Order: sequence, then C-alpha cells, then structure tokens
Amino acid sequence: MQTTNGIKYISSNLLERTGVAHAFLSRVGGASSAPFDTLNFDDRDADTKENIAENNLRVRNAFGIATPVATVNQVHGKTVFLLDPSTTDTKAEADAIITRLRGVAVGVLTADCVPILVLDPVREAVAAIHAGWKGTVKLIAKETVDAMRANFDSDAGDLVAAIGPHIGPCCYTVGAEVADEFRREFGENPACLEPDGTGARADLGEANVSALLSAGLKRENISFDPVCTSCNNSLFFSYRKDNGRTGRQLSFIALR
Ligand SMILES: [Zn+2]
Repeated sequence: MQTTNGIKYISSNLLERTGVAHAFLSRVGGASSAPFDTLNFDDRDADTKENIAENNLRVRNAFGIATPVATVNQVHGKTVFLLDPSTTDTKAEADAIITRLRGVAVGVLTADCVPILVLDPVREAVAAIHAGWKGTVKLIAKETVDAMRANFDSDAGDLVAAIGPHIGPCCYTVGAEVADEFRREFGENPACLEPDGTGARADLGEANVSALLSAGLKRENISFDPVCTSCNNSLFFSYRKDNGRTGRQLSFIALR
C-alpha cells in the first residue's frame, strides 16, 4: 500500500511499468464522515455532494488528473460504455468504461465487488471494469475486452489487466443459487468456487482471471493481488462487513 497526500492506495506493478496513471484507492484520505468515512465517491446514499466533490478534488490533486474522473451508473450488467468526445456528457448505465482519450481518467466504484483496470499499450486505450458476482458470471471482463477489440482494434494478447481489492473467498460465502451460476459459467474450477456447507466460497478475483484468460489475455499480463476488503475493513469499504451501509472506493486509470 502506498500513500500520497494522505491518500492510501494500491497500484499494480504491471501497470506501473507501463507508466499509465492508475490507482486502486482505499477509503483513507477523504473528507466524508461515518458511515462513508472517509474517501467516498458514491452519491446515491446520504453523503453530501460537498464531501464527494472534496474527495474528487483531493484525488485529482494527488494524482495530477486534469478533469473529473469519468464513471458510469453501475447496474450489475454487462454493458460497456465507450467514452469519446461525442459521449463525454452521458451518465450511462453500464459496468465498464473504455476510452482512448488522453488525460481523461475512467473509473469504477466498489465496496467488495471487483475493480479491474486494463491498458492496451499498443493501441493506447484503457478500461475500468466493475464486476460483482452478477457481472462476473455475465463475463463483463470478457465483454470489455471484446468491446476494446471492436472499437479500438485491440489485440487481447497485448492487454495488461490488474485486479484490485475486493471481498476474498475468506469472507465470501454464497448460497446454492449463486454457486450454481458460478458452476454454469466457470465449470468445476476449484480456484473459483469451493464447496462450503450448503453453499460455497466464491473467489471473484480468480473467476475474473478466468474470464480475462478466456478473452485472450496472457496470464503473465494479469496482476492479481488478493487483498480482501472485508478482512481489511479499516482500509477499504466493505458492503458485507459494514452491513450494507458504507461508502464506495474509486479505482481509476488514465492515459497520460
Ligand atoms: Zn476476507
């Protein structure tokens, strides 16, 4: 974990090497008060617009981002939003956002769900993906790679992806129905799903690695640092650990 201007965050060694601006932010270093303490970016609950604007400003100052981080209205689906000069004003319903715009950060908000940041260093494009269990089994990660191929002519073999902090299998038990959906999509892959009582423990990170591999990425181009948001609740918002009332941390990536 690193700190800049009082903001704690995680960066990916793989992405760091490429020089792209990016961070998986923690909940530490913002202005919001409980239960959104402190670096919250979610405006759907009771946190004030002023606090969220202040948090945005602190992050932009800390990381040298010129414009507000572009996000989408996340709905646990598999729609990928293309951010280009004709769509910058849209607040689209989507769970991934892709762009080739320079200096424009794209981001996703999470609290247990998986944030994934992707760079195409050849075609020069980036993506931010939000994958909860629904998005994971809908293969939002693969949908995003397909959209980068369709819009930017990206070759999946060139892509570099980083999987950020999310709830780990240590804390993520699911019922039989969710377990069945995992099995339907990922087969009997013990890395993704481990039986536990009447339900199972699901590994959202491993499942998304599997989705990225099926999309054509190389394993050595995927970084996966398994940091659990629930186990590390003082550092990260965790929807489960905080009993559903909590903030959302931001993960972003930007071409310089
Ligand atoms: Zn855990």
